Amino acid sequence: MTVPIDVKAATRTFLAHVEEHLVTYLEACVHCGQCADACHFHEASGDPRHTPAYKLFPIAKAYRAQKWPLSWLGLGPAITERDLKEWEELLFDTCTLCGRCTTICPMGIDIASIVGTARQAFVKAGLGPTDLLAAADSSRDHGSPLGVTAEKLKDRLEWLADEHEINIPLDKDKADILLTVSSIELMKYPDSVVSMAKVLNHAGVNWTLSSKGYEATNFGYLAGKADIAKLMVERIVDAAKLVGAKTVVIPECGHAYSALRWSAANMLGYPLPFTVLHISEYMAQLKREGKLKLAPFTQSITYHDPCQVSRRGGATADARYLLQDFATDFREMTPTGNLNWCCGGGGGVQAISRAADLRYKVFKIKMDQVEKTGAKTLISACSNCRLTMDESKAHWKWEGGLGSLVEIIADNLVEAPPSAGNGV
Ligand code: SF4
Ligand code: SF4
Repeated sequence: MTVPIDVKAATRTFLAHVEEHLVTYLEACVHCGQCADACHFHEASGDPRHTPAYKLFPIAKAYRAQKWPLSWLGLGPAITERDLKEWEELLFDTCTLCGRCTTICPMGIDIASIVGTARQAFVKAGLGPTDLLAAADSSRDHGSPLGVTAEKLKDRLEWLADEHEINIPLDKDKADILLTVSSIELMKYPDSVVSMAKVLNHAGVNWTLSSKGYEATNFGYLAGKADIAKLMVERIVDAAKLVGAKTVVIPECGHAYSALRWSAANMLGYPLPFTVLHISEYMAQLKREGKLKLAPFTQSITYHDPCQVSRRGGATADARYLLQDFATDFREMTPTGNLNWCCGGGGGVQAISRAADLRYKVFKIKMDQVEKTGAKTLISACSNCRLTMDESKAHWKWEGGLGSLVEIIADNLVEAPPSAGNGV
């Protein structure tokens, strides 16, 4: 049974949680329209509602309704249930928080951050996509959005260690490196977890996973549930403190990296007591230190920059450094790096089932990009991108290959320990 929305209460709550500085952004927009061509949703659908500036519209309308001179008489722009439903779609289904529009906007308006904050206000008003909110609740109640509890983690890691005859340490007393995982990898791409273990074992570092804090994805962050976002961060911080880790390595997951690297300290109110590195950054560091010995990889590949790792994360160059002198037939897409097109499933959009058709449309941009390079395989460093692209690939029956950066690195490790140099 659908519960009727108390529109006035929802609007009041929404507005009460929209921060003042966001309203300043509304005033700063000069309506130049340049951001329209930057957004993959607008590019794929041609729908004017998908332009980035239009996604500010909910805040603008609610704000004007409240500030209208005669609003106390019930006059002024009325907010309706239909408005709220449209806003929900705009804020959750049609923005992956990719930040591409911000790189184009002459006023530097950070629409991704505004949408992220507006999501929190929306959820406080009791609204939001049920499947995305359920993934956040599952993270709070079971430890992960896909229900991977600490017991399931242990079982799964033991199975992977047996199956691949490798050591995957869990709950060591002390370790320099705390490795985290994404439940998307554990359940759908377990080879990625095995690959990270192979790389860390190969480099000879002292590492562990922890049953106290293992899930790197942060659906609280994506769903606008600030309390769950903080809880997910606290679990990792507590686990890292327990083992004395100096570095926490984030797996191939873009928003997990963004949440811990850039937002966690603000959520907690104190600096993190360790360094946060995405697995691609960490592998690049190992290569610089001469701890990665790789055989050349000769298949033709291109690389999809996960938005939160490259454009929003600053690790664009490290993936290239890893591929340099290793992937002998690497071909860049156009555009690439910090201007790469998003996969269409970031920012929680992958978990919203009703957004599937829109994601498929967005993937056509990527298919076109890859085909222009002539590369056989599209490599990514984000399991959420990979899942989004895998589903879209199946939808379009696309024949291009999809793969993972850490997996091609792990598959080409040369077992003799390196002595010096860059290891390649
Ligand atoms: S952040 Fe990305 S998805 Fe969101 S409006 Fe901007 S370009 Fe579009
Ligand atoms: S590019 Fe910036 S200023 Fe121009 S319409 Fe978009 S948000 Fe507004």
